[in-house]
Amino acid sequence: MRVYNFSAGPAVLPEEVLKEAAEEMLDYKGTGMSVMEMSHRSKAFQQIIDDAEADLRELMNIPDNYKVLFLQGGASQQFAAIPLNLMKNGVADYIVTGQWAKKAYQEAQKFGKANKIASSEDKTFSYIPDCSDLPISEDADYVYICENNTIYGTKFKELPNTKGKTLVADVSSCFLSEPVDVSKYGVIYGGVQKNVGPAGVVIVIIREDLIPEEAMDNVPTMLQYKTQADAGSLYNTPPCYGIYICGKVFKWIKKMGGLEAMKEHNEKKAKILYDFLDSSELFKGTVEAKDRSLMNVPFVTGDADLDAKFVAEAKAAGFENLKGHRTVGGMRASIYNAMPIEGVEKLVEFMKKFEEENK
Ligand code: PMP
Repeated sequence: MRVYNFSAGPAVLPEEVLKEAAEEMLDYKGTGMSVMEMSHRSKAFQQIIDDAEADLRELMNIPDNYKVLFLQGGASQQFAAIPLNLMKNGVADYIVTGQWAKKAYQEAQKFGKANKIASSEDKTFSYIPDCSDLPISEDADYVYICENNTIYGTKFKELPNTKGKTLVADVSSCFLSEPVDVSKYGVIYGGVQKNVGPAGVVIVIIREDLIPEEAMDNVPTMLQYKTQADAGSLYNTPPCYGIYICGKVFKWIKKMGGLEAMKEHNEKKAKILYDFLDSSELFKGTVEAKDRSLMNVPFVTGDADLDAKFVAEAKAAGFENLKGHRTVGGMRASIYNAMPIEGVEKLVEFMKKFEEENK
């Protein structure tokens, strides 16, 4: 029996994708082997990665002057790769809206001058600061955001005004959840283990002119975008099985109607939960309504013991991973693309019952 899995990541994947992968486990399309066992230099794998890239390009409408890289090291490795590759003047501006943006900001300080130009830490990252007129540095190589803040449940509804500087965005927890205009960004990247696939793959979509033309002597070969772009993500052995599953998820999203349809589906789900939180006398959402994420919905009762009781009873009823991030407590329901609407409806039913019983 499958549970309703509200994990922030690794997270729920489409059942159809898992079943297909199971069917192909022992013999992938007549090759007589699993994708896990296959050379990354084989024809069959080249087709898998080519198809994955083509489907992602179609889904996100990625312009031709952007490269798509399938890499390892998670989103956290990109915290270093981005300044290492993009800091030509040695300066970058960071908007710090949560722990992940903060980690990226701290990592960048190792490689150049990273400026914190805005932050929402004063109110436990419960909002997105006004980014319409920030003190962007004259010589900034880029402006960095974490577009959806997984832990706190906030999302940039409007991109910051970068005053012409390159925008770099970590979209780990909102990847493929709604349409996006890639041309507004220099780099979009994310770990796939939330909306897209299994942990172990990070996707980097980067405008070609941002990739250093020459190899850099002082940067590890594996961390240079040039290395990865020149080799079509096959400089070394890539995370083959993960890329294969990502490819299946791309096909599933296409079948579901693409990113417009995903957005509609995600808005519907989030509304059910937020409407309930707004009407409940026990539970309440923790972030400013205008900045609410469609993907991660944190909430509290206001009483840590009652929160723990709720998480335990929910688990017993088949609703898994509702405990909030260890740094903030309370609860968090992550309702990524693959969470069906019934999952959210049933969770709200359960919350109503809990509220009745714990008045
Ligand atoms: N960015 C965001 C928005 C995240 O939610 C996470 C982790 N879940 C990370 C970065 C770090 O990702 P990874 O574990 O792949 O390094």
